[in-house]
Amino acid sequence: MTRAAVGIDLGGTELRAAVVDEAGRILSRAQTRTDACGGPSAVIEQMAALVADVRDAVPGVTPVGIGVGSPGPLDAEAGIVIGPPTLHGWHDVPLRDLLAERLGLPVRLDNDGHAAVLGEWRFGAGRGLSSFVYITVSTGIGGGIVVDGHLLRGRRGMAAHVGHMIVEAGSDVVCSCGNPGCWEALASGSALDRAGRAAAAREPGGTIARIAAGQPVTARHVMTAAREGDDTALALVGREGRYLGAGIVSLLHLFSPERVVIGGGLSNGLDLLAGPIRATIAARAMPAFRDVPVGPSALGLDVGVIGAAALAL
Ligand SMILES: [Zn+2]
Repeated sequence: MTRAAVGIDLGGTELRAAVVDEAGRILSRAQTRTDACGGPSAVIEQMAALVADVRDAVPGVTPVGIGVGSPGPLDAEAGIVIGPPTLHGWHDVPLRDLLAERLGLPVRLDNDGHAAVLGEWRFGAGRGLSSFVYITVSTGIGGGIVVDGHLLRGRRGMAAHVGHMIVEAGSDVVCSCGNPGCWEALASGSALDRAGRAAAAREPGGTIARIAAGQPVTARHVMTAAREGDDTALALVGREGRYLGAGIVSLLHLFSPERVVIGGGLSNGLDLLAGPIRATIAARAMPAFRDVPVGPSALGLDVGVIGAAALAL
C-alpha cells in the first residue's frame, strides 16, 4: 500500500494542498487563493475543503497525517501560528490542534522555510547532503538550514528567519517586520518590484514601462526587460543579485553549507542573477567559502506542498 501524507502550503496569496507519497511524488493536488483577510476560521475552512478534494482524487490512498507549512513566526513545538505579517487577523492561532480536530488526522505544523528545506533535503536539491541552506526569494525571503544532518530549529523552532538578517544597518528601507535594512527589505521580489516601479516612473518611455503596458511593474517585467538587454533593467537585476549575494556570503560564513539552494518566484531569474551573486561571493566571502555551489531548487513551486507533506511522512 502507498504510504502518503497530505501537505498544505499556506501562503499569504495562494493556499495549496497535495497528497504526496513517500517518494515525494504528488498524487493529487488542489489550490485556491488564500482568504487572507478572512481570518483563521475562513482559511481553516478553505484548508478542509482542499484536503477533501485531494483525498477524494486518490480514494485508494489513506494519508498517515497532514503537514502544514505556514508563514512564520510560529511556534512549531506548540503548533501555534504567532502572527505572520501576510495573514490578517492571525494572532496566536493553535492551527495544529484546530486542524487535527477538524480533519481527524495527526497534524504537524512548521514554518514554510523549514518545510521547504525538508522537502529539498529528502526529495530535491539537498539529497545526500548533511549541511545546506535553502532560501526562498519571492514576496519576502524565507529559508531553512540543515547543519550536520539536522534541521536547525532553535528556540521554539523559530531559527532560520534569514530574511530578517540586517544586511544594511544604516538603511531606511523598512521590512515587513518593521525593521529597516533587513535582507528581505532589500533583496526580495517585492524590493525588485519597487525598484522596477521607480525606474518605470523615471523612464516612462523605457523598456520596463513598455513591457508592463500600464500594469503595476513587477520583478517579472524587470527580468523580461533585462533579457531584452535593457540597461536600466540589467542594472536593477545586477543590484538585486549583489544584495542576494551579500546575504548568501553571511550564510556561508555562519553555516558553512555544502550547497546553497534558491527557490521562490525570483529563482526563475537565476540565469540573470547567478553572475552578480557569484561575483559578490568571489569578492566578499573568505577564500575558503567561495567554491560552494549556489543553484536552483529541484522541486520548484511544488516545494511547499512536498515539504509540508515531508513533515508528516
Ligand atoms: Zn525584517
